[in-house]
Amino acid sequence: MKLDAHVHTHYSGMTTIWPLSLIMRESYNTPERVYRLAKARGMDLVAITDHDTITGALTLADRPDVIVGCEVTAGFPGQVVKAHLGVLDITAAQFAQIERRRHDVAQLMPYLYEEGIFTIINHVASQVNGRLTPDHIAALLPWVDAFEVINGSRLPSQNRTATALSEATDKTAIAGSDSHTGRGIGHTYTVVDGATSRAEFMRGLRAGRGPAEGSHGSEFTMASDMLRFAARFYEERADHLVQHPLDWRRHAFILCGLGALPLLTLPLVGAMVHFIEEARFNRSLLFDLVARPASSLRARRLPEAA
Ligand SMILES: [Zn+2]
Ligand SMILES: [Zn+2]
Repeated sequence: MKLDAHVHTHYSGMTTIWPLSLIMRESYNTPERVYRLAKARGMDLVAITDHDTITGALTLADRPDVIVGCEVTAGFPGQVVKAHLGVLDITAAQFAQIERRRHDVAQLMPYLYEEGIFTIINHVASQVNGRLTPDHIAALLPWVDAFEVINGSRLPSQNRTATALSEATDKTAIAGSDSHTGRGIGHTYTVVDGATSRAEFMRGLRAGRGPAEGSHGSEFTMASDMLRFAARFYEERADHLVQHPLDWRRHAFILCGLGALPLLTLPLVGAMVHFIEEARFNRSLLFDLVARPASSLRARRLPEAA
């Protein structure tokens, strides 16, 4: 059975990139669209993993082939850096407990572990939530089941670092598209051979099975996503205008938006710069890990605030 283990919908909220955060969502996917695309692309199971909410996933939870998941933003008290943890197959009651504890990994991680919640360190070699150090990774290690070794929106070199970590620490290898648009859904996925149901699939993951397969990200996939975003943004605004044709503010919004259209040439440049920075962080994390492999992965304490 195949599962794209990391997908977003509009329930992920507004984007965190200022000033776009004022007007643009993290994703324009609906849960139904994610489900349809994933199935059409050969996924046997469908997971919805929005940022810090399961509201979208719950809309499909009555289907036997849907896994309620979440991408939890986990905090290290007193520090800016956060970890993105994928959790799969959780209940609403468990989510409420996760939400209460997620600002402090010292509270969160033992809870996830004791509840037996399948937990993945997502895109470990990306600096989108700040720069994780070997000490941060070591603090999470005893409590997690897996590394996301192919993230369909990250560079192959970043995914190689995650693969090396999963192999060195004997954690399950997970793959997911991290799709915020429809483009990548079902192109990056985790396989559990022989599983015939959601429960068997999850048992397979816990047993350490789950080869990770499919596409990695690049500057071009990111630029393509940005253009898709812009298209969905204009589509949503046009919809509002059709619903309220006499509201001058809707007209003004569309006019300003159209005036900004030439700026759409910027995504490619933005994506290039973003990935140059990402590749640089990946290299420095690798150097740190290689410089002191034993001590960095053996540590059990939580890193001190910087
Ligand atoms: Zn993430
Ligand atoms: Zn994500």
